This record gives sequence, structure tokens and C-alpha cells, in this order.
Amino acid sequence: MVLRILIVGGGLAGQATALALRKAGHHIQVFEQSHLTPEDTAGPIVHLGPRSNELLRSWGIDTAVASGVIIKQIDEFDHGGNTKDTGAVSPPGWMYYERSKLHRALLSAATASTEAGVPVEVHLRTEVVSVDSQAARVVLGDGRVFEGDVVVGADGFYSTVRKAIAQVDNIPIKDQKIAAQFSVQSHSGPLTQRFQYQSDRYEKWAGAGLEVHIYSAEPGRLLFECTLSAQAGTDLTSAWIKAQLVQAFENKNTELARILAALDIKDIRSWTQTSYPKVQTWTSDKVVLVGDAAHPFLPHEAPGTSQSLNDAAALAAKLSSDMKAEDIPSHLAAWTTLRRERLRTLPCFYASACT
Ligand SMILES: Cc1cc2nc3c(=O)[nH]c(=O)nc-3n(C[C@H](O)[C@H](O)[C@H](O)COP(=O)(O)OP(=O)(O)OC[C@H]3O[C@@H](n4cnc5c(N)ncnc54)[C@H](O)[C@@H]3O)c2cc1C
Repeated sequence: MVLRILIVGGGLAGQATALALRKAGHHIQVFEQSHLTPEDTAGPIVHLGPRSNELLRSWGIDTAVASGVIIKQIDEFDHGGNTKDTGAVSPPGWMYYERSKLHRALLSAATASTEAGVPVEVHLRTEVVSVDSQAARVVLGDGRVFEGDVVVGADGFYSTVRKAIAQVDNIPIKDQKIAAQFSVQSHSGPLTQRFQYQSDRYEKWAGAGLEVHIYSAEPGRLLFECTLSAQAGTDLTSAWIKAQLVQAFENKNTELARILAALDIKDIRSWTQTSYPKVQTWTSDKVVLVGDAAHPFLPHEAPGTSQSLNDAAALAAKLSSDMKAEDIPSHLAAWTTLRRERLRTLPCFYASACT
């Protein structure tokens, strides 16, 4: 049977799920509270392994058009700019993406009228305020009600859909985690020259207590990212972030130290996490959670997007178009078992989150 599927949240997990389920022959509507502008979908660089990139290609996404850069080499430096390690990436096929461009590619593929299947309908600036799991019904902030066969909660770390179906324990993180990002015009110096010479690489610089990753995300600009830890109660301003960065690389006459010293704090973006939801249940009746709504990752843990893509592919495989309506809850439960088993094997995943 062709299912009417309502997806709450149009981030990377929501768009990937919409695309995979459209390709499985279903009719999809996505409800997204933001405008999905590049500003709304910006975020830290996304690294994807060879299998996730293959999955994107199998959905018809041209990974190069989605701004994907095949990483050929990673060079590591100490805080004085001395090479610690350099090497080819293994296995080959790892790529990094600017988040908003990867998001745009998934959204375009999901809504394209030229592809097989019914184009996904995306309702922007549409907040879902409640969900009925037995009726597969969502209620919007403006009072409208939509009913389908399945509701997918892809509404992220602070999921509304999760509140309707799952018991959640908020686990405080000992040290708050802050992911910070900024970009600067290319300078003249050895760092800049290395990227001019070879852009399919990135660098890791180990400072005192933190590591900075450097990419050449756009021609003529270098992109810097790092994860910082801070004790509870710290005032996490951009000025504080800059001070940590400058301190980590100070006393060295390197191009990085000069870039950090000249950094305008208005150019720093940051994302902070202070607690961690441990989600006990991923499905109830006709509702299922995917992506960060089901299994949130902290900023220093990488694989949230790749696991979201795998959630989408596995869900599309379980919800085949020859299934019957009464089988939906058992198929969603089978999907949950499969995915929890997979996530348990990830060494970086917060151990108790899947138990
Ligand atoms: C700092 C950082 C670095 C990361 N680096 C990597 C990496 O290198 N590789 C990797 O694989 N993953 C990485 N991740 C993880 C990755 O970003 C996420 O796991 C992935 O994007 C999946 O997110 P999502 O779509 O589930 O949630 P989100 O991106 O949070 O999207 C949720 C969407 O739902 C919408 N929404 C929320 N509530 C409602 C509502 N009530 N009604 C309607 N819409 C709603 C939001 O507006 C949003 O668009 C990183 C995460 C962080 C924080």
C-alpha cells in the first residue's frame, strides 16, 4: 500500500528520510518550523564515510554538486606549526560537506518533479505542536490538523514528537561542549599556500587543550572549527571562545596564531550542548523517531548525519509499498531493533543511550 507519511522536521534527517521514502513509492509531507534558508541550515562541517556517500549517490545525489570534497590527505600539526603526522585517508572515499549545501542537495532531490515518484511536499514556517501516535495525526501551531498512515519525528535534539511517545532522562554533561566555527579570507603564509596547492585535504592543529580543524571550504577562504569544553556556569560568549583559541596557540609566531589574534568575535558562530537526552523509546504505534530525535550525538561525536542517512535507508526498506496498514507498528518496531543494534556497535556513541 502507498503510505501517507508525515515528517516533522526538515533538517538533514528529515530530508534524507523524505527522499528515501519517496523513492520507496510513498507520499510524503514535511513540516518544518523554519524557512530552511542557508542561514537556518548552517552548521559545522559534516564528514561522511564511504558507505554514506554511496547511499547519497544511490539516491541520485551528485556528491560533488552537494559541495562534497573527497579527502585525500589529513595533515596534523602541533601548536607551533610543526608537522606531527601526515597521511592519506583510509579507507578512501571519506568526504566532507558544508552542511547547508548538503541539506540543499537532499531537499532538491526530494522535491524534484523530474524524478520518479511523487515529489515531497514541504510546508515551511510550520510548527508541529502535538502528535497523536494511534491516529498518525499532527497538530500545527496554527490549529490545522493533518492525518497520515505514519508520522516520522525528525525534529532534532529537542524533539516535540519524542515528548508524545518517549520517556526521556536528561543527563547533564560534566563539561559543557561548544562547537565553534569561523572563516577568514586567505592570508599569505605557509598554511594558506598548502591549501592553494592542494584543496582536497584538511589540517588538524593541536593547541593547549583543544584542536582546531582547518578546511578550504570556499575558494579564497579558510574555514576553522573546534570543539571546546567549559565548566558549568561559564559565560560562553564569542569573546570567551576567542580567548580560549588565542591562549591555546599563543607564544608562537605561526600564521594560525596571527589569524586567531586578528579574529573579529562577530565572525564566530557556536553551538552549545549542556545536557544529553537518553531516549528510551523510538517508536509507538504509527510514530517513529529518526536522527537526533532518536539518538542525539554530542558535538565532539561525528556520526549523527551518517546515522540519519542510514535510519532513512533502513526505514524505506522496512516500509515497502506491498505492506498492509495493520503491519505498520510491527514494521516500525522491527526497524527500531535493527537500528538500535547498529548504533550500539558505534564506539563513540554514548554507551547508555541505547540500553
Ligand atoms: C557541532 C556538531 C558537529 C557535527 N558534526 C558531524 C559530522 O561531522 N558528521 C556527522 O555525520 N554528523 C555530525 N553532527 C551531527 C549532525 O549534525 C546531526 O546528527 C544530523 O544533522 C541530524 O540532525 P537532525 O536532522 O536529526 O536534527 P536537526 O538538524 O536539529 O533538524 C531538526 C529540524 O527539525 C525542525 N523542527 C524542530 N522542532 C520542530 C517542530 N516542532 N515542528 C517543525 N519543525 C521542527 C528544526 O527547525 C530543524 O530544521 C554534528 C552535530 C553537531 C552539533
